[in-house]
Amino acid sequence: MINPQHKNKIEDLISRKEPTVILSHLNPDGDSVGASLGLALFLIKNEVPVSIIIPNEIPDFLRWLPGFEIIKVFSKNRKQCYYDLEEASVIFFVDFNDPKRLGDGLDSAVNSSAYKILLDHHQNPSDFSDITISEPWRGSAGEMVYILIEELKLSQYIDKQIATCLYVAIMTDTGNFRYGSSYAEVFRIAGSLVDKGINKDEIYSNVYDSYSLSRMKLMGYCMSEKMKVLDSYHTAYMGISMDELQRFNYQTGDTEGFVNLPFSVKGIRVSVLFIEKKDHVKVSLRSKGNFSVDQFAKKYYKGGGHVNAAGGESSLSLEETLKQFEQIIAKHASEIIDH
Ligand code: 5GP
Ligand code: MN
Repeated sequence: MINPQHKNKIEDLISRKEPTVILSHLNPDGDSVGASLGLALFLIKNEVPVSIIIPNEIPDFLRWLPGFEIIKVFSKNRKQCYYDLEEASVIFFVDFNDPKRLGDGLDSAVNSSAYKILLDHHQNPSDFSDITISEPWRGSAGEMVYILIEELKLSQYIDKQIATCLYVAIMTDTGNFRYGSSYAEVFRIAGSLVDKGINKDEIYSNVYDSYSLSRMKLMGYCMSEKMKVLDSYHTAYMGISMDELQRFNYQTGDTEGFVNLPFSVKGIRVSVLFIEKKDHVKVSLRSKGNFSVDQFAKKYYKGGGHVNAAGGESSLSLEETLKQFEQIIAKHASEIIDH
């Protein structure tokens, strides 16, 4: 339930039709892009001038989304993005809880004099917005956009295009309705999006059956050569170097979903993917059950996320990061229970 005062304020802002920017996090995913686009298309239908700014390149599997062409990528078009931010009267911050997730150059948006609204489902949001709608129990930001529109009593504005964007957000952040969807409301929302005329099978195919052959081969290589299982800790991890990525003609988004692969092995409760970048190692963590990878990522990798899905980074080399991981996971062995 959104605070009635917040609701009134958002209604008021929509009716003013002032320039609005939607900002989301680095390394865009289905939820950040789908939720941002769903919200943007809804605001545009209400005649609000909107631009979406995403910090860096958007992976190919999202390029077909309705309205995709209105997204501006900050790393490719800084000037235009700064201009839009300067002109904005309202900024929505979608699907992240900390300005650091915008990356260098964009994080200054939190100091803008525009009216700031945070719409997010991560734990412990930073206190920088005028309105904070934080619902960490929800599986996706897309779901939150749907609920917001519904609470504004404007569901009639949700057309097939908006529904498609929100469905992609919900589908991807719940791993196709597996995680973060253990309550009926997710399915009620998905059902009403289907009622709006979306083609859920085509959407699934556009998102999950659109990878390149080289990505498939990289996946096979990682499974056969890179996956390491620590039986006594019910843990699997993979570390992929830049050289290896290059060998398989890596494109942004190609390692999306790899971190979930080890869960197909019986008994695995924790999975971690390490990807070597130019000046750091990107860490993605997933767990089943109570072991909080959010806490683990906060403690060791300057990151965070949710109990069962989190991310962060390491400033050690890839090799040292992997060595360190084996040591630190051992300390948490008793928290990882296999049942
Ligand atoms: P992924 O592993 O797919 O990049 O991210 C999984 C979850 O962790 C997402 O909910 C994402 O928002 C969060 N996350 C990923 N990377 C970071 C990071 O560097 N810092 C923080 N605080 N959260 C992250
Ligand atoms: Mn999300």
